[in-house]
Amino acid sequence: MSHLYPLYPRPDITLVRGEGSRVWDDRGRVYVDLIGGIAVSALGHAHPRILAAIEEQAGRLLHGSNLFHHPWQEPLAARLAALTGLSRVFFCNSGSESVEAALKLSRARAKGRGEPRRVEFVALEGSFHGRTAGALSVTSNAAYRAPFEPLLPGVTFIPPEERALAAAMSERTAALLVEPIQGEGGVRVLPDSFLRAAREACDEAGALLIADEIQCGLGRTGDWFAYQRAKILPDLVCIAKPLACGLPLGALIGREETAEFFGPGAHGSTFGGGPLACRVGIEFLSVVQEEGLLEKVRIAGERATSALRAAASRCPAILDVRGRGLMIGVEIDRPATAVLEALRERGWLAGSSRQTVIRLLPPFVIEPELFERFAADLEVLLGADAASFAPSPLPAAPARKNGDTR
Ligand code: PMP
Repeated sequence: MSHLYPLYPRPDITLVRGEGSRVWDDRGRVYVDLIGGIAVSALGHAHPRILAAIEEQAGRLLHGSNLFHHPWQEPLAARLAALTGLSRVFFCNSGSESVEAALKLSRARAKGRGEPRRVEFVALEGSFHGRTAGALSVTSNAAYRAPFEPLLPGVTFIPPEERALAAAMSERTAALLVEPIQGEGGVRVLPDSFLRAAREACDEAGALLIADEIQCGLGRTGDWFAYQRAKILPDLVCIAKPLACGLPLGALIGREETAEFFGPGAHGSTFGGGPLACRVGIEFLSVVQEEGLLEKVRIAGERATSALRAAASRCPAILDVRGRGLMIGVEIDRPATAVLEALRERGWLAGSSRQTVIRLLPPFVIEPELFERFAADLEVLLGADAASFAPSPLPAAPARKNGDTR
């Protein structure tokens, strides 16, 4: 019997070791890691510079708390400010926590400006912002929210369409949240025109624009941040996943004008932004820069999408290939679960998103030529006798009640 809450339906695989883009299980089988710990292992596994930083810092100072300074928090904040074009940083331990901080700061800003009625949020259909109570309130999947309701009131979900923005934003809106590329929502790329319209709608309504770059940010798309492609600047940016290469570290990055609303005592974290995680965060950014990984992500991403699109042109079971850089979704005509299992048997670890999307979030250091082999394997698997996958019927999507805006 397990003593763990049965939250994660996991295949019977125990991973014990990793190196570069490969991981090994306890039976000595090797896999190509195409899911990268859900966008965390961007530098692959056991990167020598990350190992060295961890080793050195662990022997020096693991934790000092936010009661005192340490040498790594301020420089990491300065690097993140320079990369985003923003100026203030709050460090936390996860993506959800950075979204919590963004929601709290949006409300504190409204109250601080004498607008106590500005407490509501607008989020997008298909959104995923995390599992903590606030982040869950702005996450669109009703099945995730239902057991825990009532959550935050006053959240409106809209389709990512320009005309929906105008109707949803008002003098009560504290902030609009967007993932420039929705990860859990099926690898959906929001059009640049929508992001620009979102920026304008926030300016008109006096609301903050929050970009959740937790999955798509920090180089994953071949740009430091996915919003940069649309040439907009959000007011707040949430990041986490790859920042400390597997150590927990998240951050909220914001405009200078928001600094006065997050003053002493307004928010905080015991572990957030500790010396070990921040030092590794600095090393992560340096490795991405010095090893030219943004360019490598672009090249590998193009190679992956063209291999997969070529497979799609021959294989009717592949319905769509989308994404940017190394954030790729392959929509197929059947549930992804059985296909992922068959891929594992052939040495590929991939993920899924929604029911029918195979999701790839591989390390930035992946060998681009692997994608042709992966696409060929996928094509064979999907082209093979469909019965061999024993596809189970798709469960019906949870019904959405009329007027349910949360
Ligand atoms: N936002 C986005 C876009 C995410 O992809 C995730 C995690 N999948 C989160 C927020 C939540 O991050 P965490 O699990 O680190 O709390």
